[in-house]
Amino acid sequence: MGNKAYKFRIYPNQEQQVFLAKCFGCSRFVYNHFLRVTTDVYAESKKNFRYKEWAKLLVQLKKEFEWLSEVNSQSLQQTLKDLEAAFTRFLKKLALFPRFKKRLLRQSFRVPQHFSLTEDGKLKLPKMTPIKMVIHREVEGTLKNVTISKTPSGKYYASIVTETEIDKAPLNGEKIGLDLGLKDFVITSKPEKFPNPRYFQKSLRRLKIRQRRLSRKVKGSSNRGKARLVVAKIHEKVANQRLDYQHKISLKLTCENQAISCEDLNIKGMVKNRKLAKQISDVAWGQFLAFLEYKGDIYGCEINRVDRFFPSSKRCSNCGYIKEDLTLTDREWICPECSKFHDRDVNACLNILQFSELKIGQEVPEFTPKETVEMQCIKTVMP
Ligand SMILES: [Zn+2]
Repeated sequence: MGNKAYKFRIYPNQEQQVFLAKCFGCSRFVYNHFLRVTTDVYAESKKNFRYKEWAKLLVQLKKEFEWLSEVNSQSLQQTLKDLEAAFTRFLKKLALFPRFKKRLLRQSFRVPQHFSLTEDGKLKLPKMTPIKMVIHREVEGTLKNVTISKTPSGKYYASIVTETEIDKAPLNGEKIGLDLGLKDFVITSKPEKFPNPRYFQKSLRRLKIRQRRLSRKVKGSSNRGKARLVVAKIHEKVANQRLDYQHKISLKLTCENQAISCEDLNIKGMVKNRKLAKQISDVAWGQFLAFLEYKGDIYGCEINRVDRFFPSSKRCSNCGYIKEDLTLTDREWICPECSKFHDRDVNACLNILQFSELKIGQEVPEFTPKETVEMQCIKTVMP
């Protein structure tokens, strides 16, 4: 058994939009209220957040602010559970300290149970009439929970999680090495190359013009609101294009292969390089690796992360010769030892694959982490 997620666009009518705004608002209010309380407690005693304690306080809070009772109480409890999860991630050093939710950013609340799909394909939530929904693919399994969200550009979505049997694709035995770059987004040892579409770079000019217009508008004016919407729509489009592209490639790779080995990138370290930060954020390797991992789970493809401190480009994948004088501009080279012709990127993928299968390892010269991270950064910008 596994979880499956479906995201559908919903079209609430005027009355439903008003009610959803209340739900977003109450959820945000509760989240921010308890984040403030918890921050104080944490600063004083470094004590962890406890859902059970705060759930009791929520009951008191609802007596104080009666309008909190107008929305589904389980969604408010869920908000506290989300906050607890955010704190746990922070304490485990997996995330930054939780931040306050803002009215102008993406809004959301979750309904943990008591929701359903009506016969005519609408979404029924507690305390609401059914909302029109576009179901573009069949929902399989038992409904677990649904998250309602609203983007800064004003679109509404429902993300439904179900529990279902997942059929794993038959194993076909293919194992590949994979490298990520900026010229080509993904290179594999097969070899295959997927270009980097640079969606953000392409919309940068338009975005700069619109952002400049936004900055000239008077704060709080309705024209500023309109200008903000235009900017939000450009960002949303870029994010959607990128998501679509990465979903397609990660689906193809995880369905076609039994195991994928890739370098464990230090993305946070790279983003600190200011010249590259924008390009690296645009290419969104971290998101892609996350897609590979979860799709790998679903479709039965093993994802192996390879230690990143290893000179994958300089080693001949055929005979193991290390070409020390290989420069960053050498896109193609011929091994002086075995005369094998190499495409730089594909050769690196073959080495990553071999490295993960432990065919090599001992003979690889030691690199200091610092040098290698810099090398990685430079490697990725080369045209
Ligand atoms: Zn060779």
